[in-house]
Amino acid sequence: MHDEEKKVLAQDVEQEKDAAAQPPAQAAEKTPAGDEAAEAKRINLVLPLLPLRGLTVFPDMMLHFDVGREKSVAALEEAMLGNQLIFLCAQKDMQVEAPRPEDIEQVGTVARVKQLLKLPGLTIRVLVEGLYRARSVEYVRQEPYYEALVEKEPAQQATTPLVEAYMRNVAQAFASFAKINGKISSETIATISSVNDPGQFADLIAANVLTKQEDKQAILEKFDPAARLELLLSMIQREIEVAEIEKQINARVKKQIDEVQREYYLNEQLKAIQKELGDKDISEEADEYKEKIEKAGLSAEAREKALKELDRLRKMSPGTPETSVIRTYLDWIVELPWQVETTDNQDLSRAEEILNEDHYGLDKVKERVLEYLSIRQLTGSMKGPILCFVGPPGVGKTSIAKSIARALDRKFVRMSLGGVRDEAEIRGHRRTYIGAIPGRIISSIKTVGTRNPVFLLDEIDKMASDFRGDPASAMLEVLDPEQNFDFRDHYMEMAFDLSDVMFIATANSLDTIPQPLMDRMEIIRIAGYTQQEKHAIARRFLIPKQLAEHGLKKSNLLISDEALDLVIDGYTREAGVRSLERQIAALCRKAARRVAQEGKKRLSVTPRTLEQYLGVQQYFRLPPEKHLAPGIATGLAWTQLGGETLSIEVAVLPGSGRLELTGQLGDVMKESARAGMTLVRAHARDWGIDPDFYKDKDLHIHIPEGAIPKDGPSAGITMATAIVSALTGIPVRGDVAMTGEITLRGRVLPIGGLKEKSLAAHRAGMQTVLIPVDNEKDLEEVPQNVRGAVKFVLVSAFSQVLKHALAHMPKAK
Ligand code: ADP
Repeated sequence: MHDEEKKVLAQDVEQEKDAAAQPPAQAAEKTPAGDEAAEAKRINLVLPLLPLRGLTVFPDMMLHFDVGREKSVAALEEAMLGNQLIFLCAQKDMQVEAPRPEDIEQVGTVARVKQLLKLPGLTIRVLVEGLYRARSVEYVRQEPYYEALVEKEPAQQATTPLVEAYMRNVAQAFASFAKINGKISSETIATISSVNDPGQFADLIAANVLTKQEDKQAILEKFDPAARLELLLSMIQREIEVAEIEKQINARVKKQIDEVQREYYLNEQLKAIQKELGDKDISEEADEYKEKIEKAGLSAEAREKALKELDRLRKMSPGTPETSVIRTYLDWIVELPWQVETTDNQDLSRAEEILNEDHYGLDKVKERVLEYLSIRQLTGSMKGPILCFVGPPGVGKTSIAKSIARALDRKFVRMSLGGVRDEAEIRGHRRTYIGAIPGRIISSIKTVGTRNPVFLLDEIDKMASDFRGDPASAMLEVLDPEQNFDFRDHYMEMAFDLSDVMFIATANSLDTIPQPLMDRMEIIRIAGYTQQEKHAIARRFLIPKQLAEHGLKKSNLLISDEALDLVIDGYTREAGVRSLERQIAALCRKAARRVAQEGKKRLSVTPRTLEQYLGVQQYFRLPPEKHLAPGIATGLAWTQLGGETLSIEVAVLPGSGRLELTGQLGDVMKESARAGMTLVRAHARDWGIDPDFYKDKDLHIHIPEGAIPKDGPSAGITMATAIVSALTGIPVRGDVAMTGEITLRGRVLPIGGLKEKSLAAHRAGMQTVLIPVDNEKDLEEVPQNVRGAVKFVLVSAFSQVLKHALAHMPKAK
């Protein structure tokens, strides 16, 4: 084949892509006029038949297609040997490889083969021009190709008005179809509209509009132009409908795509803005987190979790709220001191110095602390019990813990457990809660920034438990060395090792601490200070500290010893030195103002001028009365605030032997009141009391509110003494205070808190204190100066109590 020919054919192949059918304007012209005239006359012809797969060739149309099947190639060759005419018929099912005559439609198109091009392999590309419709009447040959006797379509009649009307309708429908479809070229439209022959007009439109093979075949089978136009009209209308729906679908899809694109575009814009503003985009941020995670020295578990969260973060778009949740979580993880720790200072002499430097007195406490530190150093672990300082407020519990931290070169962190009732406060909320954060243990560790601080659990006795869980059990886990290396906060959801933390607890009283917690603690009591001790603490620590805090020089403010004593006695009433410190601060404040405002250089505070600074005196210490009214006795109680004197009143009224108890009495106190009553009845005669007194008398025991003592039996002898005094009318001595539990037989049993009670008796100016004989050993804890000023009488039987307490002994009846 010539090169030029090849070129022409290649162009044709190109054309096929653009349009399925081209008007055969020029092709028709090329056809030799003589042949055409001859064929028009022939009604029946025998022609080689070529079955088409998925293709319909209409008359007056040029088309090319590839032929590969042997039989088809043979038919083509036969056609080329003859007049180049071939009968093209569609196969009913395009899947069939070797169609039999019954698989082939009867109606087809007789066409002229215009060009052949051999392609690699057996394939031949063929260009044909459709000439006219025909029907196969009979297959005259089946091998090596099909040959059929065909019947040509009848000649066209003149155009009728009906046909013309159809043509117009079809033209209109085609125009609207072209508009909706938008793919039909204006050239094609122009060519079609110039065609006058109704049949050709219908065929051209059908070839351009119809997509389905069977529709095209149906049009082909309509030999009558009117019927063909009618069918075509309904088909175009359907195509229009479909095209319209298609268009709608496309619009919808496009809209969705547009939205996605819009979002993408906006996000990109947002990123750009964030970048301009100095914010990092997520991937940059994630890289930073990655670096932090690698640096923080996380545990394997924490690292894995952190990386997983980081992965989630990376996949998020920047605006999502979830990103900030993840960010917060990652911040918590990387900011925890996984590896940051301080090295303990092992110098115990230095520790001793520091404790002494920071605190006056408290020798026993310091000793216990140093012992504790020594043991810890020798065993090299934190597994021992934790220290718990127990005592009234302001006695230096916190401050000793701080000194321990200083001595060890550890950081110090304090967490108050007062009023904590929700376990989540200790262990955090799960992250599924909105705004969840870790519990206070983890928060404190993060704040302090090392994994081995001295951790003060303040007021561990003030923890409560309710429906939200038991904080005490969470605390137990924190303090248990077998568990606390694996402490799991609900928010963090990963283990943090607390085993190197040095926990120290404080409490005002031990009553409310659950036993399991108590078992983990080594209790060190701090009782409270005497007047002298407070004086010394104020001189050496509180005054210098407050002067410095208020920017005063030592020479600016001189507080005389007498004035200081008056501050202690007249302006504070407490076991510790907290209010004392506050009053000294008030003094310094006033002084600072006078120094700054009035230019005073030296202010001196004496008992006389003290009122100018602190206002009127609030407490007066009156010397105890010589004798109290009959029925009143002074006891000693031990409260959370330290020791207190306690005045117990008994009234005798006409009645029928009822015993009434009022005041803040606990159950144990009530029982010890009843025991006292029974004792008195049993010994009534000995103490000059009518043994039948209970028959016509009621007794009313009252403990005035004021100091609310803790419930306990130690007011036993005081209540019994008040009962005897009330029944005999013999007053109790005003300078005698007493404490002791009583039995029905009149024995006096030991009590707790002797030191605190002694201090209270001393503060109240008592001369004599009656204590159970079994408490003798505790006397050594009582400060020397208190022992010098107060006479302690050891009693073992109630009669001894009466002997020392009553103004005189009653005569037996
Ligand atoms: P607590 O924790 O027992 O309630 P703090 O430790 O807060 O009491 O003590 C209150 C104030 O009293 C602190 O300023 C503390 O330094 C001071 N303080 C208490 N006891 C002493 C003491 N023995 N020596 C020096 N200062 C003391």
